[in-house]
Amino acid sequence: MKLVELKCPKCGSVLQINAELTRGLCNYCGNEFLVEDEVNKIKIVNGKEFGYEQWQGAQDAINDQKQELMKKLECVVGPASNVEKLRMQYENRCNIYNSWIPIQESSPIMQIGIGFLVSIIIVLLSGIKGKSAMVLWIVVWWVLSGILIFRSCNAYYQKVKEKEEYKKQTDDIKEKYDAELKALMNKLDFIPQDYRDAKAVESIYSYLRNNRANDMTQAINLYEEEKHRRRLESLQR
Ligand SMILES: [Zn+2]
Repeated sequence: MKLVELKCPKCGSVLQINAELTRGLCNYCGNEFLVEDEVNKIKIVNGKEFGYEQWQGAQDAINDQKQELMKKLECVVGPASNVEKLRMQYENRCNIYNSWIPIQESSPIMQIGIGFLVSIIIVLLSGIKGKSAMVLWIVVWWVLSGILIFRSCNAYYQKVKEKEEYKKQTDDIKEKYDAELKALMNKLDFIPQDYRDAKAVESIYSYLRNNRANDMTQAINLYEEEKHRRRLESLQR
C-alpha cells in the first residue's frame, strides 16, 4: 500500500490516501473523489513550483552578476569622465595656443615718427632758438623714441612670455591627463578593449541601471545600435 498526502477537493482537509485506490473518501466531509485526478493536480502544482524556482534561481544569478558588474562600473564612471574632461581641456588649449600670435602693437619706425613730431612741438614751446634748439631737438627726439620703443618691445615680450606660460600649463594638463588615463586603463580591464572610453563606459552603465541590458554583451550591442543610429541621423542632416 502506497500512501499519498492529498487535499480533499471539497473541504481542503489533508488526507492520507492509498494511491492504489481509484476512489478516495474524505473522513471529514464525506466527499468522494478520484484519487488519480488529485495526484495529477499535485504533480502539476509541484511541476510549476519547480519550474518557477528554477526560473527564479536563474534570474537571481543574472541579477547578482549584473549587480557585480554595476559596482565595478560605478567605480570607473567618474574617473572616466574626468579623463575625458582633461582630454577636452587639453585639446582646447592646444587650439588656443596654436592660433595665438603675439602682435607688436606698433613698429619702431612709428615710435621714431612720434618722437620726431613730439620733440618738434617741445622745442617750439620751449622758445629756445639757434644751435642749442637743434641739439635739444635731437636729444629729446631720440630719448623719446627710445622710451617708446622700449615700452613697445617690453609689451611684446610680455605677450610672448604669457604664451609660453600658457604652453607650460597646457603641458602640465597633458601630463596629468596621461597619468590619469593610464590609471584608468588599468581599472577598465574588465571592459572589452574597444569600449574603454568615457562615452562607452557611461552608456553601458546607464543601460544596466535602467534595465535596458542585463549583462556586458547586451549593453555593448545596445551601445553599437545607438551609435549606428546616431551616425545615420547625422548623415541625414
Ligand atoms: Zn472533505
